[in-house]
Amino acid sequence: MHALVLVVLTMTKPPVAWTDRAGWPSPVSSPKDFDRASRAEQLVFVEALSALPGGSLVAAEVGLKHGDVGALEAWTQQRRAVVLENFQRAMGTCTGDELLCPVKAPASFEVLVTQATPMLESLPDTHRAWRTEARRFHALYVRELARLAMLSSRVSSEVALLDASEVTGERFSDRQFLLTFDDGPTGVGGETDALLPVLASQGQHAVFFTVGDAMHARKTVKKGLYDGHCLASHGASHQSHVTSAPVAGRLDAWNAELGAIANPLRWFRPPYGQRTLAQVKALSKQGITTMLWNIDSQDWQAPKDTRLVQGRVLTLMLLWRRGVVLFHDVHPVARAVLPGLVSEAGSGAQWVDCRGLGQSF
Ligand SMILES: [Zn+2]
Repeated sequence: MHALVLVVLTMTKPPVAWTDRAGWPSPVSSPKDFDRASRAEQLVFVEALSALPGGSLVAAEVGLKHGDVGALEAWTQQRRAVVLENFQRAMGTCTGDELLCPVKAPASFEVLVTQATPMLESLPDTHRAWRTEARRFHALYVRELARLAMLSSRVSSEVALLDASEVTGERFSDRQFLLTFDDGPTGVGGETDALLPVLASQGQHAVFFTVGDAMHARKTVKKGLYDGHCLASHGASHQSHVTSAPVAGRLDAWNAELGAIANPLRWFRPPYGQRTLAQVKALSKQGITTMLWNIDSQDWQAPKDTRLVQGRVLTLMLLWRRGVVLFHDVHPVARAVLPGLVSEAGSGAQWVDCRGLGQSF
């Protein structure tokens, strides 16, 4: 009985981390307010990251029989450096009596670890509900990422880059975010068409990673459908470009076809984030950059209450402070979430226009 339970436990993928931000007691819509909330989220992430158990234990926790411990360690080191830098950035608007502003910026991740819990426990009681919820969220979220990291030597993903030419948004300037939408277009009058006016109303200029099959199913893309946005490639068919050689083989033809409209085609995003170094390098030679992401909305498996998706994305924006946000235009969630998200982030975030993007971010 015990053995059976253990097998079931070790094969279960952990749940996606959603969160309700209602417990955070102040807005995040100015740079100063954004930074205060950003420091708070980072401190809870620091707690969660430093509390992760050793390699084989965490593998079992995240549903893997065999996890790559070396890859987890490399990922952990990289996250430590990023979150330390982010905390220092988020202290940029600190004044003497501000919450979560240590007298001196922590000089190392180890110092930040020793400061995290005392600082969080020193918050006024008005933050109690948030703190409990944030600890629950980050314990789940850090395991989502750890799982991807431990799989990265077998299944490539966005958490481990294969080549310096790949972009995730982590080299954007502080506070800069780019919206991206995968898997479309839908049929005429579908979700893609419903999303575009929402983006226009929010002043957004996003990247659409389109699939050849979906584009052909729509028959004609009316001229101007994607005006103000950027068209990019998500492959000829929505299948892994690692496990399906025929699909990978059709990529160049689809990119050439799309290039006639996108002119020039600048970005490719592999389905499921799965790609090989050879593919990335070959595309790079053609001037096509592989664009991954660092803020995954998980909108395709969203709960009914879309406030939880908004909570997840905003929390990750506060945590990572810059980056590429992944949504899908074949689902209704993004258009439900975006107006609230853009308004809640206010001037704490700067949304990037895809049309002015360079090649390295
Ligand atoms: Zn996709």
